[in-house]
Amino acid sequence: MINDKLIQETISQLEKGQVPFRRDVKLSVLSSFKIGGIAPIVVEPENDNQLFEGLEIFKKLDLEYKILGGGSNLLISDHPDDFIVLRLSGEYKNYEMVSEGEFEIGAATNTTPTFRQISQKGYTGAEFLSTIPGWTGGAVIQNAGCYGGELLDLTKRVDFIRNGNIHSKTPSEIEYGYRFTEFLRDKDSIILRLVVNLKPGNFDEIEASLKDKRDRRNSSQPENKKSAGSIFKNPNLKGEDGQQIKSWQLIDQVGLRGEIRGGAQISPEHCNFIVNLGDAKAVDVYDLIQLVLEKVEKQTGIVLEREVEDFGKVP
Ligand SMILES: Cc1cc2nc3c(=O)[nH]c(=O)nc-3n(C[C@H](O)[C@H](O)[C@H](O)COP(=O)(O)OP(=O)(O)OC[C@H]3O[C@@H](n4cnc5c(N)ncnc54)[C@H](O)[C@@H]3O)c2cc1C
Repeated sequence: MINDKLIQETISQLEKGQVPFRRDVKLSVLSSFKIGGIAPIVVEPENDNQLFEGLEIFKKLDLEYKILGGGSNLLISDHPDDFIVLRLSGEYKNYEMVSEGEFEIGAATNTTPTFRQISQKGYTGAEFLSTIPGWTGGAVIQNAGCYGGELLDLTKRVDFIRNGNIHSKTPSEIEYGYRFTEFLRDKDSIILRLVVNLKPGNFDEIEASLKDKRDRRNSSQPENKKSAGSIFKNPNLKGEDGQQIKSWQLIDQVGLRGEIRGGAQISPEHCNFIVNLGDAKAVDVYDLIQLVLEKVEKQTGIVLEREVEDFGKVP
């Protein structure tokens, strides 16, 4: 826990500068799981200058900070009180076309509407992103993807802060793969914005593709439930039928469909999802995750890897 003295010192430093911040923020409202305790301070820079100013204060006071995007891939601690939350805002919520088919997109833009709007301007290739929740910065971190597409494959450039300086990298300079990037592994960068490169397409075909992705999503996932999407990555293994083994199949096979701990349940509709039934705590979800890991390994020998990350200490 950050003690009161350090909180007061942080506030006093922040108040002297320009960077917006909020006190005692309920993180559950900023998470798709609707789980998470109260963060003492959430710092919300609106541009690069304010971001550098905030980072300078964190460094001076030796404060740990964690970056929160759309909160759609996180299990947020019930007690997130031993770090500062950094959440981009302002200019990072904008996107614009910078040349034919090239869009510069701020890290705090909502992925779904941004890519739906870009697609509807007549550019094709990013329709799959119109079904992924969260923010574009979080999507970069994790190389978000679905239906055969991945964000980094459409990307021309990523701008980020590392070691106090702004850098730009092309995808060929970034280590990335299935739900993986070097940013996710190293946790040493703040994604600021990216540029995607799309081809002009036929309006009717684009609309049909957007609808197809939406329909596939609606038919395969629990609707209007509080979740963080797939809890586990699919293992890189094929079954006897030559098809890729899916995590949901393994969870189903070991009999955990519908299992409940506290206020959390392994979704009866899609067992790689855990849903918050209403008042779940992070530890309830954690208990289910541990149960799945243990049972799947014991009964199948396969060690599942988590996709959803902890944000703060859980349990
Ligand atoms: C119903 C549902 C369906 C989903 N379906 C899919 C899917 O089909 N495919 C898929 O890939 N994902 C899916 N997800 C997971 C999630 O939507 C994506 O991973 C999303 O891109 C995460 O973005 P976010 O802004 O919510 O990140 P957060 O959850 O806020 O953060 C995730 C990680 O990124 C870091 N981070 C966030 N922003 C930045 C930044 N600007 N700079 C540095 N680090 C940052 C955080 O610190 C954290 O480590 C789904 C989630 C839900 C709830």
